[in-house]
Formats: sequence, C-alpha cells, structure tokens
Amino acid sequence: KPRLTDAHRRALARIREREDAAFRARVPTSLAMTARARSTMPGGVPTPWMAGFYRTPVLWLSHGSGPVFTDVDGNRYLDFNLGDMSTALGYAHPRLTETIAAQAARGVQLFLPSEPATAVCEQLRLRFTLPQWQFTLSASTANTEALRIARVATGRQGVLLFAGKYHGQLQETLWTTDDGSGDESAGADALVPEQTGLGAPPPELAVVAFNDLAAAEQVLDRRRCAAVLVEGVLTNCGTVLPEPGFLPGLREACTRTGTLLVMDETHTQFDHYGGAVAHYDLSPDLVTGGKGIAGGIPIGTYGMTDALAELVDAALADELGETVGLALGGTLFANALSLACADVVLTELMTPAEHERIGRLGTRLSDGIEAAARAHELPWRAHRFGARSGYCLQPELPRDAREAHTGIDPLFSDTRRVYLANRGVWDAISSAGPHAGFAHDEADIDLYLGLLGAFLDELCDSS
Ligand code: PMP
Repeated sequence: KPRLTDAHRRALARIREREDAAFRARVPTSLAMTARARSTMPGGVPTPWMAGFYRTPVLWLSHGSGPVFTDVDGNRYLDFNLGDMSTALGYAHPRLTETIAAQAARGVQLFLPSEPATAVCEQLRLRFTLPQWQFTLSASTANTEALRIARVATGRQGVLLFAGKYHGQLQETLWTTDDGSGDESAGADALVPEQTGLGAPPPELAVVAFNDLAAAEQVLDRRRCAAVLVEGVLTNCGTVLPEPGFLPGLREACTRTGTLLVMDETHTQFDHYGGAVAHYDLSPDLVTGGKGIAGGIPIGTYGMTDALAELVDAALADELGETVGLALGGTLFANALSLACADVVLTELMTPAEHERIGRLGTRLSDGIEAAARAHELPWRAHRFGARSGYCLQPELPRDAREAHTGIDPLFSDTRRVYLANRGVWDAISSAGPHAGFAHDEADIDLYLGLLGAFLDELCDSS
C-alpha cells in the first residue's frame, strides 16, 4: 500500500507551494542577511547544516527564551526540533545564564582541571553506570576517542556499525554498504562513502542491518572488530526500536569474541534518563554522548570501564616522549565553562523527575499523532521512545533502516514543517520527529497537535 496516494501528493504539492511563498514573505530580513552573507560564507551560512537540513530559506535568529525562539523578522517559533538535541533544555534558562556569568567571571578556559568535572562524572555514572569519564567538545569527537581506545585495548582495527546509523563527522562512521540497507544479500560488502571529502575506507569496517543479530554475530566471529558502535535505538532514520534480545545478544557476542560494545547515547540520553543503557539495562564497555547536556555549551563525553581507564591512564601522553600516548585530547576539551554548565544541567535541571515529565509529554505527542492519523483514516503510526516521537507513514513500525526509510516521505515532512512554521511551530528535521524538551509543557504539545490536525484536515479534504 503506498504511504501517500497520488491525490495526497498533489494536495501536498499545492500546500507546499502556497506555504513556501508565505514563508518567504514573512522573513525578508533573513533573506537579506543570507544574500549579504553569500559574499563571505558558502551558501550564506557559517556551517552547512544551517542551510541543508530545512529546505526552506535559512532563518536567521535573534534570540530564544524557554521553548520559543525568535527570528530576525520578529517571528516566534515554538521549537520541537530542539537543535537536534543540542537545545533540549530550552533557550536562555535563567539558571544556566547565571552559571555562565559566574564561570565567566572566574575564567571560561583554565587548561587544568576545575572542580565541577568530578560532579559531572558522578552524574554520568548515575545515568550510565560506567565508572570513568573523559570529555571532548562534541559527540563526534567522543566517538573518535572511544574507537581509538577500543583499538588499543583489543589490538584490532575493525568496527561494526548498523545501517541507518549516524555517529558524527568522523571518518570511521561515514560509510555504508552499497544500498544503505546493510542487507548483505544485496551485494553489500562494498563500502560507499555517505559524504564526500573522506579518505580511504577504514579497514575492516562492516555495516549490517539493525536488529539482525545473526549478521552481527557473523561479522564479530571473524574477530577483527575492535568495537561495535551502536545507538540502542536508531534515531537518525526516524526511530527504530531494538527487538527483544537484540541488544543483550550483541552484548553476549561482544563478550564472546573479545569485542568492545560502545553505545552512542548522544540522542537517546534525552529520551529517557540514562538513555537506552538504563532503559534496556545494558552493560556496555564505553558510552558516548554530548549535545545538550551542558545546556548548549559545547561538550562531548565518554565513559568507560575501570579496565579501560587503567589502559588510558597507563598511556597518558608524556611531553618528554617517554610514553607513546594514546591519541586523545584537545586544547579546549573539558574546559571550565562546559563542565560548570554540565554540572548544573545534570545535577539540577535534567533530573530523573524532569525526564519522567518530558517522557509523559513525548507519549502525549506520539499518542496525539496516532490519534490524528486515525481521525483522518491514515494507516500511520507514531515513533516513540520516551520523549522522542515521530511519523511512520505505514501501519507497521520499522525494524531496520530499510523499513524506516519507506515510512518517511520528504514531501510530507517538508510540507508539514513549512505549514507549521508559518503558524509559529518549528518542527523536527525529516530524519527525526518532534521531541518533547525540558522547556515544554502540556499546552505546548497540544498546540502542536492542534496544528497537525488542521494540516491533516487540509491534506485529506483537498485530496
Ligand atoms: N551520535 C549521534 C547518535 C548523533 O545523532 C550525532 C549528531 N546528530 C552525533 C553522534 C554527533 O554529534 P555532534 O554533531 O554534536 O558531534
């Protein structure tokens, strides 16, 4: 059954054209700023994601407060994209602003340890159980360092990944199999780069389908992988939940084959307190993360077992060159500002009770999306994992990336996004879904759902 009928597509194209024109008319200052910026920045943006994700003209922002941001034309948007989890706390939280000011007065960068580091590690240990932690400035770099530690610990080079993954802009993980599905029967052992500008394919990299434990075991049994790098729930192709037994089976296969299990909690730590590790009661060897846990101040984190910490300790870089150091670290990593902010955010603001509250908001969002689809006789489902929600334009939830991609339609998500934007709601990018954040309340969720109902009314009435 097609996800969208031809009549739906025609209706969407009509709505899209009208809403695109309305959007352009509302943002003259943003348009002028982009035009001017084109003489100093490729695409008129300081980094490509700011233009590439949205498929509307680029919005230039003035400020944000709580769950709302305001563009330079004075338009306000209730935010459900949450900066792809970098702004999960909301904007200009008073406690964070106060913390930033206080740390600024003491120095934002000290280049030696500052006291909050220990409290942040204790908070991360409460969430993910791993005892020892290190810091970077992004989740991408946390993954880079975790894989380096895994290589040194195992003496192997390979990494096993799952199709539909995204782990950041690191050389090792920006590859997939021929058709992106991880389906080996599709002649899929050949690696293809997902982006250009990469060097040679990393050695012994394998990509298999999420939830395909047998395929993962087949790779791990060759004993060439240093690590399996996996999100407990795929969050970059909609939401794909693990089937019962998949993650415990992966743990077991890692232990049996001497491979390290690295769980990427960059997104899922905002879905449930303790992320997928806590939700599914897992024991990884390393956990990586970052994004909004310092309230938007750059940070990356990775946790490890005591055994791995000993190995890192033994290889601490020695300026005199007597030890060959592990390739970890960076000048501004673990800076005083990131750690002071992460301390306050994790200790005071993203508490277990707050996670439970936004988890309920996420359920309200997912239930509301399914109810809206049912009311319009659309055989769709909602993605759901705690505070995370999203659209699955088919009756069955996906088990892997291939199924997930058939349930996503860019025409539907782009049209919905611009329709909502013109009415003051900023929806998620199409690879994700709307997400409840710490600044939202029930009225915000209901406002989103009310507009979704109106959008589906128009879609169905005019098709
Ligand atoms: N891991 C996952 C699961 C992600 O989704 C992302 C970013 N979308 C990253 C890592 C990388 O995060 P960053 O861009 O902050 O380095």
